[in-house]
Amino acid sequence: MKAAHYTTLTNHNERTRAHFAAVARANTIRGGASALTLAKRAERMGSTNNPVSIVSDVYSASTGRHHPEHEAWECCECGQSCLGQDAAAQCCNEQD
Ligand SMILES: [Zn+2]
Repeated sequence: MKAAHYTTLTNHNERTRAHFAAVARANTIRGGASALTLAKRAERMGSTNNPVSIVSDVYSASTGRHHPEHEAWECCECGQSCLGQDAAAQCCNEQD
């Protein structure tokens, strides 16, 4: 399954969540905790996307690779971006 860039997600909330995950992943590679700072600020401003828990998940995964749950992935069949590998796997797999 191919990783997709968070900007290709069409849903605003999904894009926001994948953006936090992408910044957190950059932190695990290059150091720093800018994602956590951004996430805490977003929660103070009333974000309902639980950005702090997303950032914590990505920090503790610490693989440096696209996060399977919190980042964007391409559907193998139609190429649409989905949030998380499960959603991408389900994209063209819906029951009729
Ligand atoms: Zn699809």
